[in-house]
Amino acid sequence: DENVTTAVLEQWVRRFAHLVAENRDYLTELDAAIGDADHGSNMDRGMRAAVAALDASPPETCGALFSKVGMTLVSTVGGASGPLFGTLFLRIGSTLGDDANAAPLEVAAALRAGLGGVVDRGKAGPGDKTMYDALAPAVEALDEALAAGTDLAAGLKQARDAAAAGRDATTPMLARKGRASYLGERSVGHQDPGATTVALLLEAATEAPF
Ligand code: ADP
Ligand code: MG
Ligand code: MG
Repeated sequence: DENVTTAVLEQWVRRFAHLVAENRDYLTELDAAIGDADHGSNMDRGMRAAVAALDASPPETCGALFSKVGMTLVSTVGGASGPLFGTLFLRIGSTLGDDANAAPLEVAAALRAGLGGVVDRGKAGPGDKTMYDALAPAVEALDEALAAGTDLAAGLKQARDAAAAGRDATTPMLARKGRASYLGERSVGHQDPGATTVALLLEAATEAPF
């Protein structure tokens, strides 16, 4: 059947951790321009700890997998991104629940719930120059693809492309949330670090065996 296993979702998470590690210095450079130069080190520290937690006790359900990652991010990463990415993963986990498998529509619903968690916590909307601007288009693209009968793997590729476009679209935006908002007009012309990390999350999904 088309359902994905916890093991496949875990490969997605591990691939994301790998991409974050590879891009740590780049993410930190982006944050140096409009923040406090710690986004790459924050996310890398958090995802390394998440992978260590997965190594220590392999999760048996989709819910346990994402909840573990979310709790680890919340407890090891401070600042904005710890609670925001932590909530994203925690909401994905609570939506997928106590099940070893997930249907494509459940994966899409979980990602949408994750976006809702980010909004509940950070109150960002479209055009605020945050991770929202990459995540919301990705959620939209995945929902549309599945509704059109596209399979999950191809739907995730469309979500990846939407996230990348959303990331690129943050460059001309004026930041209205987070540290970058303190810069006002001087935030214009710089790509948002958190949106860049979201694009890596969707990139990782296309590199996992969905
Ligand atoms: P900090 O700003 O505390 O140093 P990070 O540098 O790790 O945290 O993360 C910064 C990123 O967090 C930003 O690039 C942005 O995408 C995201 N962000 C900040 N505030 C918000 C918010 N209120 N809602 C959504 N995302 C936010
Ligand atoms: Mg920062
Ligand atoms: Mg910081």
